[in-house]
Amino acid sequence: MDKYTKQQRRKMMASVGSRNTRIETLVRRYLWRLGFRYRLNDRRLPGSPDIVLPKYKTCIMINGCFWHGHDCGAFKMPKENSEFWTTKIERNRLRDMRVRKELEDLGFHVLTVWECELTKNRFEVTLRNLAIAIVGGFSGEIGVAWEEEEENANLSFAAEDDPIQ
Ligand SMILES: [Zn+2]
Repeated sequence: MDKYTKQQRRKMMASVGSRNTRIETLVRRYLWRLGFRYRLNDRRLPGSPDIVLPKYKTCIMINGCFWHGHDCGAFKMPKENSEFWTTKIERNRLRDMRVRKELEDLGFHVLTVWECELTKNRFEVTLRNLAIAIVGGFSGEIGVAWEEEEENANLSFAAEDDPIQ
């Protein structure tokens, strides 16, 4: 049976939620400073994407590793109530996949940034790669390793009309 009271659980969820808000703010501020303009949590689109860049027809999902079930070892599944969490996270993962597909069907590029790519040592490179990916019209997961996989990323970045000041 459930070990936590409703109140305790609400508290746990709220603390994870505020951490997520912090990484979203980090990404948002960076993009804004570079001159990107966006809509937040656009409810007209499937899954209310965290960030939508209309000019680039791109949606950005900023995913907490725990909630979205990232296989990166950045979190531990709580021992207590593991069935509850496993079910919940699996549901989130399926939802993420469905939302991605729906957005792509609408013609959007979908970029995912994981929480573990936004740590103190990583966020600068990750965010730079994110900007390149937006301008280049890429889809997929963006992190520090991304640039190495995309040989032409810098070229497409430079070829734009310098939307980034
Ligand atoms: Zn992760």
